[in-house]
Amino acid sequence: MRFSGRVVVAGKKVGRPSQRLTFHANGITVTAAKIVRHDKKGAAELPLARINHHKTLQEVRLHTEGMAYPGQYDVTMEFEGVITDGMTGIYPCYWKDAAGKQQKLFATQFESHHAREAFPCIDEPEAKAVFELTLDVQAGQVVLGNMPAKTTDSSAGRQLVSFPPTPRMSTYLLAFVTGDLHAKSGKTQSGVAVNVWATTAQPKASLNFALDAAIRSIEYFEEYFDVPYPLPKADHVALPDFSSGAMENWGLITYRERVLLDYPGETSQSTREYIALVVAHETSHQWFGNLVTMKWWDDLWLNESFANMMEYQCVDSMFPAWHVWHDFIANEGLAAFRRDATHGVQPVRVDVHHPDEINTLFDASIVYAKGGRLLYMMKQYIGETAFRKGLSQYFIKNSYANTSGADLWAALSDASGKDVDAFMTPWLTRSGFPVVHVAQDGAAVQLTQEHFLDSPEKADSSRIWPVPTFSETAAMPELLESRDSSCELPSAAIALINTGARGHYLVDYKNAATRKHVKDLIRKQKLDEPDRLMLLNGSAMLAKAGYKSYAETLELLSAYAGEASEPVWGVMALVASEVRRFIDLDESLDPTLRAMSRRLAAAQVKRLGWEEKPDEPSSDTKLRALVLGLSIYGEDQSALATARSLFASYQKDAATVPAELRSLVMSVPVKEGDAAAAEYLLELHDHTQNSELQSDVCDGLTATRDPKLAAALLARLKDSSLVKPQDVDRWLVYLLRNRYVRDVAWQWMVDEWKWLQETFSNDKSYDHLPRYAASVVNTREYEKKYHSLFDDKLDQPMLKRNILIGYEEIDARLAWLSRDLSAIQQFFS
Ligand SMILES: [Zn+2]
Repeated sequence: MRFSGRVVVAGKKVGRPSQRLTFHANGITVTAAKIVRHDKKGAAELPLARINHHKTLQEVRLHTEGMAYPGQYDVTMEFEGVITDGMTGIYPCYWKDAAGKQQKLFATQFESHHAREAFPCIDEPEAKAVFELTLDVQAGQVVLGNMPAKTTDSSAGRQLVSFPPTPRMSTYLLAFVTGDLHAKSGKTQSGVAVNVWATTAQPKASLNFALDAAIRSIEYFEEYFDVPYPLPKADHVALPDFSSGAMENWGLITYRERVLLDYPGETSQSTREYIALVVAHETSHQWFGNLVTMKWWDDLWLNESFANMMEYQCVDSMFPAWHVWHDFIANEGLAAFRRDATHGVQPVRVDVHHPDEINTLFDASIVYAKGGRLLYMMKQYIGETAFRKGLSQYFIKNSYANTSGADLWAALSDASGKDVDAFMTPWLTRSGFPVVHVAQDGAAVQLTQEHFLDSPEKADSSRIWPVPTFSETAAMPELLESRDSSCELPSAAIALINTGARGHYLVDYKNAATRKHVKDLIRKQKLDEPDRLMLLNGSAMLAKAGYKSYAETLELLSAYAGEASEPVWGVMALVASEVRRFIDLDESLDPTLRAMSRRLAAAQVKRLGWEEKPDEPSSDTKLRALVLGLSIYGEDQSALATARSLFASYQKDAATVPAELRSLVMSVPVKEGDAAAAEYLLELHDHTQNSELQSDVCDGLTATRDPKLAAALLARLKDSSLVKPQDVDRWLVYLLRNRYVRDVAWQWMVDEWKWLQETFSNDKSYDHLPRYAASVVNTREYEKKYHSLFDDKLDQPMLKRNILIGYEEIDARLAWLSRDLSAIQQFFS
């Protein structure tokens, strides 16, 4: 668990003469260095006075005897370091081979500023360089780098693997992996070699789906961007330990196993779609991010927002039957709206002073989801043709260089003739989003925009956005640029705006007649899915902010009786589960809400049944799991009986339960207190190599109503041989969300905080903890618990932001619950 190396940095010193050359280095020791200056007279060594490591600045400073004048230098440094379990820099991944023997492989994670943990360098995105890497590792293992391996010399149990020079690139995209891996390989039509890798413990067949998606993603983007894939090969590697979902290292993309491996007959449709989206996301970065890179981390949002939108666009082209644009609006749209409705959430674009801040600023609902929604809105506003043309120009002009958002806006403005900078800047630099109130009196329409927040009294009344109306009514202005706008329609027909949910804002129709009209259109399914789902979401959000009562949202839900679309059902289920928060205030609502769930799901349960039909739409496959989940929550006796019998047959033959229904089937005996079932599931979890199956077991077991079992599950989290650190948060948050065992899970979090901090404080998941905690607070009692756990942690920079947002979120939610409780009681009575 040690490494050593030598780096030669060739480059030009600019600026004033000095007696110091400085590089980034963190956790490694530079043991020797040599500085050689090249000029017309030849090479001359500049004697070294001393080497100094500056820990807090993460620097190594080479102090020289004489002056180092501007000019061309070669700087050679010998260094060494220790490999630790933290998943940055060079790190180990642990796995068991087919014989059950513990194995280890080594991988890297350099984004955002962890290359400096592997070798001294100038570790900033704008310091692009050509890298020529040689690795000296154990023989008999696969060695992967950004470029195809060039030579291999083996002797005495070691192998020396060299890679040809990379294109000019940033340090954060450099990567290597070495271990006992095997691959499935193919080629794109343009001749790019594509390989998908996993440990030899994984069946090769689990690589097929990702390989197909990876090849087709490259082909799609080569055509769409009109720029060839920049490298000779693309490796995709599933790693047994991985902090985030995936990482777009140039030519060597790394993933969680869960996000890449598709086991034929065992993997659910949802996971397969997720794999395709992530592969497309990372592949789009090979151009946007890798070929053209942001100057500094404050434009990281641009990389991620762009990839977030392009992943859907690419998958929509590869698998049109999946209708993933609907998922985009349902998933990314809702995530963005709901997070952004809380006071204190940051805008998409924020200043980043030090890359350490990225972890705390990296709010996925904002940086990925809202950013992606805003780019989608902009694309709708300027049109597909201009968008594509502008992008292609942007790549051609800026290849192998660095840019800021302004460069992209300039290219898109050129291509579209619209001022994209003026349109996007307010959306990106202001937190929140508007609600547009629409009041219609005959043919006269009054439109008023207002900053929307869950706690409207905290909204910024001076904040306005350029709001595209996306209306089918020609008399409507294209863009609302001031607080109040009005227009006169040619007739008194009812005017709707934001059709197709293309704009990132909520709409509040003031007139009862308009609301009735909208409800009729929903009932008759005369509106498209994006409209249907966003109108329901809008109603729920307006209610939670106090513009109306949540009972009205439940009333609106009745218009969805004939609904058969899965993304729309996603929002319906969200409304049905959101209203369950009232149970914490009034237990007597529990049976009523169960009955509501049961009734809501009944028609679709009848239509879909338990069995997958050959060639059914993927939306139906996913919807089946969703509506059966509502039925089972509703304690529908026949659903419970079927689940029980399927669980019994699963134990004899796993193939008898469709993967999509697996976690649901597992949850039923667990909920009912069947100890043998829980034991069986734990055994299954600890012996499978399939991480989706492990997640399903997690979902099943965390449905328990038994505090003793919950405590036993929590106790396992500290043993990394049972639960990988990357999976701890899933177990914890699922137990926290379960009201039967919430107290136990909360207390565990309090008692084990020191361990959580030690294990995760270098990781993105650490700052999720206050967020998860805040999400389950429905009562004054839990509000107190939240304060007593987090008030004294405000001095931790990684947690502070999310703790404060948690206070705001809890305030707004408790206000809503107490405001609407009697209306909800009345609605159900
Ligand atoms: Zn990304």
